[in-house]
Amino acid sequence: MGQMIAIVGRPNVGKSTLFNRLTQSRTAIVDETAGTTRDRQYGRVDWNGKEFSIVDTGGWVVNSDDVFESEINKQVELAIEQADEILFVVDAMNGVTDLDDHVAEILRKSRKPVILVANKVDSNDWLYNVAEFYSLGLGDPYPVSAVSGFGTGDLLDEVVRKL
Ligand code: GDP
Ligand code: MG
Repeated sequence: MGQMIAIVGRPNVGKSTLFNRLTQSRTAIVDETAGTTRDRQYGRVDWNGKEFSIVDTGGWVVNSDDVFESEINKQVELAIEQADEILFVVDAMNGVTDLDDHVAEILRKSRKPVILVANKVDSNDWLYNVAEFYSLGLGDPYPVSAVSGFGTGDLLDEVVRKL
């Protein structure tokens, strides 16, 4: 299976959209066996000859806006157990939430390599919002738009660099 990257974050930040973007449009090997990519949780990515697996952990827990902290804890603990590297997705249109702070604290303690992904940067205007994510204490936030694909190449460069 090789290296495993896990996508974590609170509901509706765009984890599944990012998963689909990274596995469909950038990959040599795409698993379409499920018939629909909607519920697919595992995929392969080949980026510049470096291959890794990616898991959308959002499918592991209830996906609703009023998700409990305990469910997020489960998601994050599983990711920490299984993954070599973690993509922590936050929402640049929404800014930092209490749940983001909570997840950031667990991730900081885990000492896993974490890449902070500020999603929904659909235009340059949203770039101004990204700086507030420095407060999460996880280094530089990577601005992306999972919908448009903006920033995903730079993000994959960083993923591969950290592997
Ligand atoms: P998840 O719950 O974290 O897996 O989030 P989803 O991938 O299901 O996305 C939640 C909502 O955010 C959906 O309506 C997506 O279309 C939207 N979304 C995801 N990525 C982006 C993005 O880059 N820009 C914008 N504007 N919306 C996005
Ligand atoms: Mg999802």
